[in-house]
Amino acid sequence: MKRPILFSIYFIFSFLSILSAQEPFPIDTSKRSLYSGFWFGEELYRFSGDEQVEQMVDDICRVSGKARKFEMVNANVPNVAAVLSGKSAYLLYDRRFFFENRLNRTLLYAILSQEIGHLVRGHTLDGRFRQREETEADEFMGQVLMRLDSSARLDIVLAVVRTQPFSYTQIPWAERESAIRRGWERASALMEGPGFGVNETNIEDLPLPRFQPKGCPDRIPLNKQRFVRCRTLRDVDSALCRALDAKGYTQRSYFCVKGGFALVTGIEQFQNNGKSVSGDIRWQDCPRKSRFDGVMDYLTSLVWPRPARFRVFVFVVTDQPGLEYEKGCINSEQAKEWLREGGDWLPESLANQPYTRNHTVRALVYEFRAPESTQRIKEECQERVPVQTHLEQSGILAGIKS
Ligand SMILES: [Zn+2]
Repeated sequence: MKRPILFSIYFIFSFLSILSAQEPFPIDTSKRSLYSGFWFGEELYRFSGDEQVEQMVDDICRVSGKARKFEMVNANVPNVAAVLSGKSAYLLYDRRFFFENRLNRTLLYAILSQEIGHLVRGHTLDGRFRQREETEADEFMGQVLMRLDSSARLDIVLAVVRTQPFSYTQIPWAERESAIRRGWERASALMEGPGFGVNETNIEDLPLPRFQPKGCPDRIPLNKQRFVRCRTLRDVDSALCRALDAKGYTQRSYFCVKGGFALVTGIEQFQNNGKSVSGDIRWQDCPRKSRFDGVMDYLTSLVWPRPARFRVFVFVVTDQPGLEYEKGCINSEQAKEWLREGGDWLPESLANQPYTRNHTVRALVYEFRAPESTQRIKEECQERVPVQTHLEQSGILAGIKS
């Protein structure tokens, strides 16, 4: 049994050292996400840290299986903020806020996990991507809260989250709620699978949903030389992730396939020559045409003012000679589903499997197009850029080496 920690009251913050020594903390805060409110102070100061908050963050990292690759700083921010400054990532928190809300652990865990979600999902924290990134962070929050306390009730958790005004009020509550709910239900479904009781030790062994290639992706096997030093599937995963990270493909999802796994990237806009669209609009949220249920229905309601081309890369690592294949075109909603439903990391049970000479790494590319006539995004099966060109022009291929 897991201890129910969301609603316990024994949480005691010491107020004694809240007014402790301060020192200036001059970082660039232009790339930031602040949970509630809009403004930081004129100047940032850092104060001595708080063990209780550190412990809560450790809890969140543990249940989500994420390493803490950011620095925590007790600072003069209104509540909790994620900031990217240069090459450093920071989670800033106001100790006074934690003290004042010390009886509301659900709220504190919710706010922390929302901001941590930005940092672990590789978000840009750039205002242009706000909608997508906030929704993903909400989904992460839902997963974390469920894993922290599977005996908690989702409706109560949602009511608690709703009490706190959200910075970016242009996102309606209904969308936030459905994102949190999705994360919660996904974590819940994974934990309730047969043989998967709710405890901490088997989180790493959670199954991944199965990837089934559908539609008309072109595919090629990658040269085995590129993986010659790989010993396990983890090594292959690392080689792929390094190449993807270097080119900005930080949004990814994992699936299992027979004899291995599949790694799927986010939907990206590209140019006719196969290069990524540069700057602002590569991953940009697009205007939507009509009402939709939640942001994840987003893609099917997307409209583009002019023709645009999109792609999704899928890397399939398996020792099987062929891929299971399903006929019929996928639509863009399904592509988004993959991102929503896939795992955030490769489970240990798969990662530890040996990489053998029977293994092949295949690259698949799905193309989509938003024609001017309908402006709806559809899978493109006719006029396509060759996979090799996609891999070269995106810069991914040059980065793949073990
Ligand atoms: Zn946020």
